[in-house]
Amino acid sequence: MLSHQWQNIIHHILGSQCGLCRFPLHASHHTNLLRWCDDCFEYLTPIRRCRRCGLTFNAEELQLEAECGECLKDPPPWQRLFTLGDYDFPLSNEVQRFKDHGEAWHVNALTQLLAERIEQPAPVMTCVPLHWQRYLRRGFNQSHILAEHLAHHLEVSFDGHIFQRAKQTSSQRGNKKITREQNLKGAFSLRKRVDYSHVAIVDDVVTTGSTVRQLCDLLLEVGVESIDIYCICRTPAPNSL
Ligand SMILES: [Zn+2]
Ligand SMILES: [Zn+2]
Repeated sequence: MLSHQWQNIIHHILGSQCGLCRFPLHASHHTNLLRWCDDCFEYLTPIRRCRRCGLTFNAEELQLEAECGECLKDPPPWQRLFTLGDYDFPLSNEVQRFKDHGEAWHVNALTQLLAERIEQPAPVMTCVPLHWQRYLRRGFNQSHILAEHLAHHLEVSFDGHIFQRAKQTSSQRGNKKITREQNLKGAFSLRKRVDYSHVAIVDDVVTTGSTVRQLCDLLLEVGVESIDIYCICRTPAPNSL
């Protein structure tokens, strides 16, 4: 990851661009410490989502109160999912820059924004684990860093050692839900005794939910009663793309 000094220097050079979408900032854009343009702020404005899966409601579900039809029919193992927005430009680029190149300039601001949306946060936060070989290659676990920031903003505990990734899985990008679930079979296990009743799992992106579903199952098996998911982006359902 880039040192803070280098990040500051590069940030200074790029100061005339919006930090998120990288388009030029105009005088008409309101100035703020983050130097994000008005379009990005608008994009990050919360929209109505299913409180359980975090997806937006489709046309037939608009009259539903809190949960989408799919969640009412077949609820996921977690209770609430909070996200900043869809996995789409510019958030998708930001997440990739962080994950692939360690560019963490906006992690603090994005997690602060997410923290402001979370109602009744779980008293303990954990993260999706990375296989040790991938950790050695990348040098950091993006979910661990996000969870630490979120826990700090929400003033709750962080426990990054609940899960371990026993199996290295190939990149899940582009895989369908069924393939993801097959790849993830037996990929995770608990590293320690878990005595919490309410836990939040943090990840950068929730796509099909296959990863967090596996982790939820491990927690539910040992008596955890309530699980929340906090993520920067939620991949829209295929039929809403
Ligand atoms: Zn922008
Ligand atoms: Zn739902």
